[in-house]
Amino acid sequence: MEDDAIHANHHIQHRYPAEVRFCALCGTEMEIKVVLPDRKRQRVCPKCGFVFFASPKLVSGCLAVKDGKVLLLKRGIEPEVGAWTFPGGFVEFGEPASETAIRETAEEVGLNVRLGRLLGVYTDVKNAKAQVVVYLAEPISGEARTTEEATEVRYFAPGEIRWNTLAFTSTVDALAEWCESVKAAR
Ligand SMILES: [Zn+2]
Repeated sequence: MEDDAIHANHHIQHRYPAEVRFCALCGTEMEIKVVLPDRKRQRVCPKCGFVFFASPKLVSGCLAVKDGKVLLLKRGIEPEVGAWTFPGGFVEFGEPASETAIRETAEEVGLNVRLGRLLGVYTDVKNAKAQVVVYLAEPISGEARTTEEATEVRYFAPGEIRWNTLAFTSTVDALAEWCESVKAAR
C-alpha cells in the first residue's frame, strides 16, 4: 500500500451526484437544461455540451452457500461497521457484475466461488443510489477468513440469522428471499 493511500470518506461520496457542479470533461460550471427526448432537466456544460446523466451505483455480491448455510461477514469498514452482510462491492467500470461478485468475495473473505443463479436485485431504502445484484454461489476453493473488510466470518443456517444485526435493508431483503427459497425447496 502507498504511504499516502486513503480510505474513501463515505459521507463525502454520498454528496454525489446531487452536488456535482462542474463539467467532468472541461471543468466549466454546468447549467440546468431540458434534454431531449425525455425532456428531463439535467446539468449540461455550456462550453462542451457534456450532459451529466446521474446514474445509480451498481453493487454486486453473492450468497455463498455450504451445507445449507450462508456465508456472512461482519463489516470492518464504513458504512455500517460491525454489522453483518454478504460479500460484495461496487462494480468497476466495464466489469461484468458476475465477475464483481466473484472478485469481491475473494478480496473480502479469501473464498473462491462459482456463481449459480441470480437471486435478485435489491435497493437499500437508505441508499437508493446503490442497486445491489445478488447471486447464489458455492465455494470452490479456499476457506473464508477475516480481512480488513471482514472482521468476522461465519456460515449461518436460515434459523441462525440475527436479523437485527444486518447492515442494509438490501441485506435483509436478499437473505429473506434466500430463506424463502430454502423453505420452498424442502
Ligand atoms: Zn464541458
